[in-house]
Amino acid sequence: MILSLKSIELSGFKSFGKKSELVFTSPIASIVGPNGSGKSNVAEAFRFVLGEQSMKSMRSRRGEDLIWGGSPAMSRANRASVKVTFDNTHRLLDIDFKEVVIERVVYRDGQNEYLLNGSQVRLKDVIRLLAGANIGGSGYQIISQGEADRILNASARERREMVEDALGLKLYQHKKAESEKKLEETGVNIDKTKSLRREIAPHLNFLRAQVEKIEKAREMKEELAAKMHEYLARENAYITQEDARLLEEARAHDADARALATRADEMRQKRGGTAPGASEVEVNALESKLSHARQESARLERELGRAEGALEANTVTVEQIVPVPHVRQFVREIEVEIGQAEQSDDIGNVRGVLSSVRGKIKSFIEGLTGSAPETSEEARLHVESLTHQLKAAQEHEHSIVAELETARAKIAAARDATFAAEREVIETEGKLREARSRLAAVQNARDQIAALRERFEEEIREGITLIGAAIHGWDKSEIPQGALSEDRSTQEKRRREIERLKIKIEESGIGNGDAVMREFNNTKERDEFLAKELIDLEQSAASLQNIIAELEETIDARFTEGLKLINVALHEFFAKLFGGGEAKLFVEKPKHSAKRDLDEDGDEIEEVPDEDELYAGLAISVTLPRKKMHGLEVLSGGERALTSIALIFSMSQVNPPPFLILDETDAALDEANSKRYADMIRELGAKSQLIVITHNRATMAAAGELYGVTMGSDGVSKLLSVKFEEATKVAK
Ligand code: ATP
Repeated sequence: MILSLKSIELSGFKSFGKKSELVFTSPIASIVGPNGSGKSNVAEAFRFVLGEQSMKSMRSRRGEDLIWGGSPAMSRANRASVKVTFDNTHRLLDIDFKEVVIERVVYRDGQNEYLLNGSQVRLKDVIRLLAGANIGGSGYQIISQGEADRILNASARERREMVEDALGLKLYQHKKAESEKKLEETGVNIDKTKSLRREIAPHLNFLRAQVEKIEKAREMKEELAAKMHEYLARENAYITQEDARLLEEARAHDADARALATRADEMRQKRGGTAPGASEVEVNALESKLSHARQESARLERELGRAEGALEANTVTVEQIVPVPHVRQFVREIEVEIGQAEQSDDIGNVRGVLSSVRGKIKSFIEGLTGSAPETSEEARLHVESLTHQLKAAQEHEHSIVAELETARAKIAAARDATFAAEREVIETEGKLREARSRLAAVQNARDQIAALRERFEEEIREGITLIGAAIHGWDKSEIPQGALSEDRSTQEKRRREIERLKIKIEESGIGNGDAVMREFNNTKERDEFLAKELIDLEQSAASLQNIIAELEETIDARFTEGLKLINVALHEFFAKLFGGGEAKLFVEKPKHSAKRDLDEDGDEIEEVPDEDELYAGLAISVTLPRKKMHGLEVLSGGERALTSIALIFSMSQVNPPPFLILDETDAALDEANSKRYADMIRELGAKSQLIVITHNRATMAAAGELYGVTMGSDGVSKLLSVKFEEATKVAK
């Protein structure tokens, strides 16, 4: 058998003020020595180096108590150290060294240090390493002096822990505890993550709604851009075309108007230029001329008539020579003159009248001379002459009539010309007015086009504020065929649609939304990250739960199996020590079971009763041979010690630890039982290395090597290898 425990070295530890080493060469080593020499200190050195944290179990209050306190002969130490060396050829410890040295040092300030093969490590590492080799934990493999029946005194829970420890379940317990801790941490993290997500959620929802709005606004803006491009391109084309057309038209109308104005001026001048007065005078002269001519003709006609009459009658009467009316006229004139003279007193006047009368009479006579009766020849000649005269007079009259007609025609023509000019002036002015009103209409249309151009530019500016640079490029959009010939109402419809869209965009109240978009993306990423983390956490929680369940299963199975085997061994050891009877370990029923309830949200809440109440601990039943009473309470001190030993040995039997340290476990045994104890030690020694501290000869006899502990006058414990004879002497 390979001894896993090679040696232990104590320096400055308790009474071992000087460095002392115990080297184990036999499966069973016995430490002997007088009371107070420091034997138990050796057992405690084992506890110490294996990571014991309970000061009480090392009979101390503070770390300092573990350090050599000094004696009159030797001053105190500042540190206590214990080194234990394991043979690791068979990889008892899960570390790649053939030999493993574990050292623990404590300083006066209470600081501890752990070293693994000289390198500083954590206590945790030491405990885990040892647990893997079924060493340590509840320390059942180090039975301190007077503590043999600790397993009997222990609570059901502690007892179970000791048994689990003995069965090598400590490692699984560690793993389970670690997993539980991790599970708890994971639970906390899950809660934290969930609460972070819950915190983010409203903000994220808000942002999502915003982003939806932004996206909708963006879509609307894209739609607007497309619509505006088409609209603006068409509008520009229309305006440009109309502008050019109207300009052309205006020019034409302007030219028309100018031409007409010039023409109207001309016409007006022409109208003013005709002076009909001259012709009128001419006509008046001609008319009076004609009247004279006609009188002459009439006189000649009359004379001719008379002459012709005379010719026909060929007789001439006074009446024929002197026409009666002519005579009467002459008489009246004379009578008037004479009447005037009769009334006048002025001689001059009367003479004047007489002179006038004489003149009248003379010319009357002369007249009568001229019209003296003619001969027929004369009459005929007279008629002929008169006919000639009449013809000439009539011809003259005709010529005047013709002249008069010509003059009148001239006047009419002149009047006609004036009328025509007037008419043309009026017509031209009418045309001019029309031309001017057409020009005004065109100007008006041009003004409207200019207003359209202004509106067009305003629309571009508005477009820029609403959709920014996206407005550009409208001038590159193609104008569809026939665009310019379409009805304006179609374009107007487009404009209204654009206006509606603009209003919608404005109502949405969204700017470009870049900042919101960024924040949404960040928040979403964070939420997704948290969601992923939650999944990871939940997965790891689930896998931890699995691990825990598996560990529990393993622990349960091994525990159940181990307990069975312990009970088989216990049955034997107990019967051997007591010569019959029965002792048995059994799992207690938990006093309470966890009650589950639902809180107001319907979540499960757990009412956790006292942990010990839930714990299925281990109880012992003992029945002694030949005794009616049973139970631990009725056992004597020796009986308790025997029962404890039986238990400890049974436990060691099932899952033998690499070593067992028994500090005066046999102290209470009588001689017969000491022998049985020694037998059992031998049996046990075949499976585990044993270090037994004893005053008992039988026990010493079972050991393969003996160490004596002595304490001299300097108060320092010393170790030495001794022979059996010496040992029995020392022990006394
Ligand atoms: P017994 O056979 O009576 O059980 P023992 O051999 O087991 O005795 P221990 O209990 O190991 O004796 O040793 C006790 C001795 O160790 C005492 O004399 C005590 O003074 C001494 N001791 C304990 N702690 C220190 C310390 N820090 N410094 C010096 N000596 C100490």
